[in-house]
Amino acid sequence: MSELSVMVVEDHGFQRRMALRLLTELGIGEVSEAADGHGALHLLQGGGRAPDVLLVDLDMPGMDGIEFIGHVAQRRLAHAVIVASALDPALLNTVQTMARAYGLRVLGSVEKPLTRDKLSAVLDGYDEKLHAYDDDEVLDVSLDDIREALASNEIEPWFQPQVELGNGKPVAVEALARWRRRDGRIVRPMHFIPLTEREGLVGAMTDYMLAQSCRWKHHWDQRGLRLNLAINISPQLLADEGAADRYQDIVRRNGVEPNEVVLEITESSVMADAARGLGVLARLRLKGFGLSIDDFGTGYSSLAQLSQIPFTELKIDQGFVSGAQSQPRKRAVIEASLDLARKLQLDVVAEGVETVEDWQMLADLGCGMAQGHLITPPVPGNELMAVLERWRRPEF
Ligand code: C2E
Ligand code: MG
Ligand code: MG
Repeated sequence: MSELSVMVVEDHGFQRRMALRLLTELGIGEVSEAADGHGALHLLQGGGRAPDVLLVDLDMPGMDGIEFIGHVAQRRLAHAVIVASALDPALLNTVQTMARAYGLRVLGSVEKPLTRDKLSAVLDGYDEKLHAYDDDEVLDVSLDDIREALASNEIEPWFQPQVELGNGKPVAVEALARWRRRDGRIVRPMHFIPLTEREGLVGAMTDYMLAQSCRWKHHWDQRGLRLNLAINISPQLLADEGAADRYQDIVRRNGVEPNEVVLEITESSVMADAARGLGVLARLRLKGFGLSIDDFGTGYSSLAQLSQIPFTELKIDQGFVSGAQSQPRKRAVIEASLDLARKLQLDVVAEGVETVEDWQMLADLGCGMAQGHLITPPVPGNELMAVLERWRRPEF
């Protein structure tokens, strides 16, 4: 970690000195400090190399941490941030979304009091994330680029398995859009989905993703690998009255039945156009599609929506899964979600299962299915069978 540079932004003198000492003990090459947001911005704008990581206290007088992170993100004054606070995941999610929209990475949060172990665990993420996603920078993508990518089949589904926690058996795959550019780089959806949504291209993209994914499913079916298919649906597609009939057609035309397909809808967005959206959801359900509430716990009015919409599945957001063994609040959200799901007879998938400890905790709590890097990151369709052959559930 000696090449890393970290700036601590913390108003509380004792806490700040503590952070500096721990970072030095961890062998961080360059450590700097500021006592509040204004001071930090002043330092950061003074020129010189941007620090790799900012360790930011959220609760500061004057300019709070969230406002500060907003400024840093917009002006690209640092590469990544760590939030020091006992923040609940929904709020951390908001901060993450805000930061990411500007191309700033949020490595995670550390609960106070800081310790060496906690800091070193999140800082480890810096390297990992750097190597895992070389596409983390902000890409300059235009609408024409995306149109062309769609027309020339450069956008394709990759697949990430969902496996039963009880016995490790793969039961489904989620299709996740990837853009394979001519220079060989793989671009993740955060760089192009929002633009397709804003510009009215997401409908065409989803039809294409659905058709391609069904073709892959048919391919695996014929080789004896029976997996359900999960597809992400942008909220505004629910305003399209023709969606239910069209999805049924697409699926059938490619050798798949609607009851083998689960449509994942992000919770925060479900109710953008309430009445019409409900109608489309009801008709999709009537045709046999499963309906999953994605990123559960991070949106609004989840309970009201759950009672109105005929969901069949709930996906616990990865923000609650990572770190849940040590953070009682996250664990409580998982337990409550599982309880609710049981009572409403919904299937449950936990997202972002990265470690054997995550797996163990979810198994202990009686969660049904797991998806995450522990099993495998998303892979291209032609690699899925080999990946699943290698997969073994953790032994305890
Ligand atoms: P999502 O539907 O919640 O998908 C889960 C995301 O978590 C995926 O990111 C996946 O690669 C990532 N992930 C899976 N396991 C782990 C893990 O163990 N740790 C961590 N840190 N991350 C993990 P991805 O592929 O970048 O997709 C991001 C989002 O983009 C998706 O979130 C989904 O909302 C959207 N998206 C992807 N494909 C499509 C699509 O075809 N249509 C639409 N409308 N949205 C899509
Ligand atoms: Mg999803
Ligand atoms: Mg999700």
